[in-house]
Amino acid sequence: MKDIILTGDRPTGNLHLGHYVGSIANRLKFQNEYNYEKFYIMIADTQALTDNADKVDKVKNNIIQVTIDYLSAGIDPNKVNIFIQSQVPSLFEITSYFLNLVTLSRLQRNPTIKEELKVRAFEKSIPVGFMTYPISQAADILAFQTTLVPVGEDQLPMIEQTREILNTFNNLYEPKSQVFATPKAVLPSIKICERLPGIDGKIKMSKSAGNAINLCDTPEIVKQKVMSAYTDPNHIKVSDPGKIEGNVVFAYLDAFCNNEHFKKFLPDYENLEQLKSHYKKGGLGDVKVKLFLNNILQELLDPIREKRALLEKDIDSIYEMLFENSKKAEIEAQKTLNKMKEAMGIDYKKLIKNA
Ligand code: ATP
Ligand code: MG
Repeated sequence: MKDIILTGDRPTGNLHLGHYVGSIANRLKFQNEYNYEKFYIMIADTQALTDNADKVDKVKNNIIQVTIDYLSAGIDPNKVNIFIQSQVPSLFEITSYFLNLVTLSRLQRNPTIKEELKVRAFEKSIPVGFMTYPISQAADILAFQTTLVPVGEDQLPMIEQTREILNTFNNLYEPKSQVFATPKAVLPSIKICERLPGIDGKIKMSKSAGNAINLCDTPEIVKQKVMSAYTDPNHIKVSDPGKIEGNVVFAYLDAFCNNEHFKKFLPDYENLEQLKSHYKKGGLGDVKVKLFLNNILQELLDPIREKRALLEKDIDSIYEMLFENSKKAEIEAQKTLNKMKEAMGIDYKKLIKNA
């Protein structure tokens, strides 16, 4: 059996470098090199509303922004079904049945939820929808018979919770035939890319934290952000020895730089190891390293920006593609919903004897 791949993003802002290395790079690899059955990318607008109920316009406007980010980063709409979560009603019916299979305390123990609660300013008024979004995410994954989920590391607890729901369902209803496939997370191959830090040195680059370099940022903004990125606060003079751990500029070099970049932009060094050891010894200033990083990032982002400018000329056909794809996604999700109802014994139409 070939794999079914599903992944997604919340339309809460433009996509950033964390998305690129954490998830988009793997998506491009699957798209271009892997023989899969189906590949879905879901724009999780309903999930985004769970902590943005008062910012509907933000979520609405970012649906198209995130889609343009995908397409300009190289996602091919002929190979991948990009759809909008809210346009696939069966997902919400599946969610309702799953809500009964998870306890409140289990949700409260979900490490990603715990971490996100710290950065969201909910105080004591946490929306129920936010607390339960891992359950809705399980429905998104299981509805499509997904086997592979390319994600960043913060999503591992969600995949774990999804598998728990699957097991609880199977134990409770003992289906005669298989209702769901078992999903597996696919993490980036480079460690730092599992959770790329923000330019402020915080643990995760995130749309909501305002510490991101976006794929659509202009060359000037990218440079400005790179030059302001957090390094080693004790590396004051060029001659001071510098620290690599926690230094965001070196984290980004780990994620984005290869030996060809040295030949092209910094021929005094052969590779990143040499650059790091000079920095640690002292005698290498932050500005030189930052300008090198800036060159690497501009080279990556230039073609993405160019493609974006072209795509922005025909927004309507992108929306049409999203709605068409959402209809196709609904057909698939409905098949799973029907199997669930049969397993649960709630396919009421069967109560009519001669149906
Ligand atoms: P928000 O702050 O609104 O939650 P976000 O920046 O966390 O936005 P999401 O849409 O929640 O982005 O995440 C989409 C995907 O990108 C997930 O697979 C997530 O693991 C991955 N991802 C997000 N940020 C990073 C990061 N800094 N490093 C690696 N992967 C990331
Ligand atoms: Mg997130």
